[in-house]
Amino acid sequence: MRIPLENATELIRKGEVIAVPTETVYGLAAALNNPKAVEKIFSIKGRPSNNPLIIHLAQISQLLPFLSIDYPKDLELLANRFWPGPLTIVLPINEETIPAKARANLATAAFRIPNHPLAQDLLRLTGPLVMPSANLSGKPSATSPEHVESDFGSDFPVLDGGPCKCGLESTILMNRAGKWFVIRMGAISPEKIAQVLGYSPSIDSGNHEGAPLCPGQLYRHYAPKAKLSLVTRIPINHDGNILGFTDRIYPKGMKVIPLGVSSNPEEVAENLYSALRFLDFKGFNSAFVDMDFPNSGLWATIAERLKKASQNQ
Ligand code: AMP
Ligand code: MG
Repeated sequence: MRIPLENATELIRKGEVIAVPTETVYGLAAALNNPKAVEKIFSIKGRPSNNPLIIHLAQISQLLPFLSIDYPKDLELLANRFWPGPLTIVLPINEETIPAKARANLATAAFRIPNHPLAQDLLRLTGPLVMPSANLSGKPSATSPEHVESDFGSDFPVLDGGPCKCGLESTILMNRAGKWFVIRMGAISPEKIAQVLGYSPSIDSGNHEGAPLCPGQLYRHYAPKAKLSLVTRIPINHDGNILGFTDRIYPKGMKVIPLGVSSNPEEVAENLYSALRFLDFKGFNSAFVDMDFPNSGLWATIAERLKKASQNQ
C-alpha cells in the first residue's frame, strides 16, 4: 500500500514498521528509540537476532551523542565526502543510547546518512531510524515498491520513491586500531574511499576463521530460488536463461534477462536485483550469469553479490 509522507511519519511514531526508499535499496524502517518496533523488524524480515541494524540519521550532528569516543581520525573527511550517501560507518557507542536488540548486543553500531529526499524528509520528522534492507532475509534486496510488496504483501505500507538509483547496498567501513576496513562491499568502491584516506582500505570479506567483522557475512544473501551458474564463457548451443548484457550476442535459443550495457556498471547495479527477482517471478529454476566483466570499482561489488546469490543452493 503506497502511503504519503504524513502517514509514514505517523506510523513510525506509533511504533509501526514501514518501507522507505533510499538511494541504495528500500529499507524497512522503525524508530530507533522504540525497542518493540525494532523487534518487529527482525520478525517481519525473519532476520537472525545476531545480525545488527544500520542506524539512519538526518544529519551528522545527531551522531555525536551515540559515540563513546571522539571522532576517529578521518571520520570527518569520510563524512564530508560521502554523506549524505551510500556509506555506512561502524563506530563504538555508549550502550545505553541504543537498544541492545538493534545493535545485536555489540558495543558498536553502524551509522549512515542516506541521500534520498523522501528518506531525509522522514528522518527529519521522526528522528533516527533503524533500516535494514526491505526484503525477506536471504532474498535479493528490494529496489522498487513492487519488490517490497512481493515480499511483504500488497497491504504493507510503502513510502513510494519509485526505483532506487544505486541498486546496491551501502559500503560498510569499520575502524580497527586506526586503520579502516571495508567490511561489506557496496555502492562506493574501495578505490573511491582510497582517494579520501590516502590508502586502500583492506577488504574483510569474512572468508576466514573466527567471526567476520560484519555479522551479516555469516548468512546467505541476495539469493533467488533459481540456481545461478556464473560463467565467463557463454555456453554454445544452449537454450537456458542468461543474465546478460544488452550489447552482447548470446546463443539464439537463450532467453536474455538484461542487466544493462557491459560498459556501464552503474546501470548494471541499478538493474541487478530486479533481474534476480524476475527469475523467481517467472518461476525459472536456473540461469547462467555472464561474469565477463572487470573486477574493479563497482564491478567488484556486483561480482560479490552474484557470487553470494549463487551460493548454497
Ligand atoms: P542490511 O540490514 O541488509 O542493510 O545490512 C546491514 C549490514 O550491516 C549487516 O550485514 C550487518 O551485519 C551490518 N552491521 C550492522 N551493525 C554492525 C556493527 N555494529 N558492526 C558490524 N556490522 C554491522
Ligand atoms: Mg540486507
